[in-house]
Amino acid sequence: MPLDAADGSPPRVIVHADMDAFYASVEQLDDPALRGRPLLIGGPVERGVVATASYEARPYGVGSAMPMALALRRIPHAVVLRPRFERYKEVSRQVMAVFATFAPEVESLSLDEAFLDASTTADRFAGPAALGRALKDAVRAATGGLTVSVGVSATKFVAKVASDFHKPDGLTIVPPGEARAFLAPLSVSRLWGAGPKTAARIEALGLRTIGQVAAADDTTLAPLGRLGPHFRDLARALDPRPVVSHREPKSIGWERTLTTDVRGRAAIEPILETAADEVARRLQRKGRLAGGARVKLKSADFRITTRQCALTAPTDAAPPLLAAARRLLDGFELEQPYRLVGLTGYDLVPARAPVQLPLFPRI
Ligand SMILES: [Mg+2]
Repeated sequence: MPLDAADGSPPRVIVHADMDAFYASVEQLDDPALRGRPLLIGGPVERGVVATASYEARPYGVGSAMPMALALRRIPHAVVLRPRFERYKEVSRQVMAVFATFAPEVESLSLDEAFLDASTTADRFAGPAALGRALKDAVRAATGGLTVSVGVSATKFVAKVASDFHKPDGLTIVPPGEARAFLAPLSVSRLWGAGPKTAARIEALGLRTIGQVAAADDTTLAPLGRLGPHFRDLARALDPRPVVSHREPKSIGWERTLTTDVRGRAAIEPILETAADEVARRLQRKGRLAGGARVKLKSADFRITTRQCALTAPTDAAPPLLAAARRLLDGFELEQPYRLVGLTGYDLVPARAPVQLPLFPRI
């Protein structure tokens, strides 16, 4: 290409990448005995649902969100496993790290799915198909064999529909000039944001395909209110929404405004103890270690003072955070009244070592 946007804005290269039967594929990767067998990942047989079915299970009409008991009636010989989310998160980090080498903006939608804005990196490749193949190869190499389905177009909606088009292990390129024709024959239930109820409302207007929605006039769409023009824009492949990365936080903190002002070390330290516990808990939840600690005090007359120091080793534990905070108190004028006490961990690093990526060929 380049993929010129239909609305005249600068060309964008939007990639939607979606791992194939992710939980089941990870289990099959880790245990070769499971390969080629129908596999159901999910809750207990009596009351659980299927989270992911392997592709071997799908010909039996089994899929996500189906009650496990029903799925097993359809495939009595299926292997049932409870999900191992820690492992899936680990593989997800590998996959997202690969995505980040292809685009500066990566918007993850779940553990196994993301949008990439490759507009500024696409010229490394001979074209969008080469980009897509390189992405698929890099994911396979980094994970030891997992496949991802990839859609490439100029908008998020079309890229997302495209990635689903030839699953598993698919690669579908939709040049923007062909996007409307690509969408036209598809059911309105494919419109992004149209759940079963909304899809039924659209069909009740006599509109069964996305192409019919694209051609509908205002009068026809009026019963849908503001959603009408929105879905018509999507149907016309007009979707200016940007890919937005979720930035990692630069710091994780806890602070409290007190009901009565405090004064003196003996009054402030217990609050810092709570703060250290809270900050440690949040660091652990985010999988981050803090390389520095910062104490913040706000005086009764609203002046803010902070003191900070590097920690001897990055940590997500309360005791070293508290010890640093206690030392930092030496740098404050403690005999005046304070109305707010806070503690922040900064210079965050991942709790696990980053994944070492194999090199992949640039085309
Ligand atoms: Mg998936």
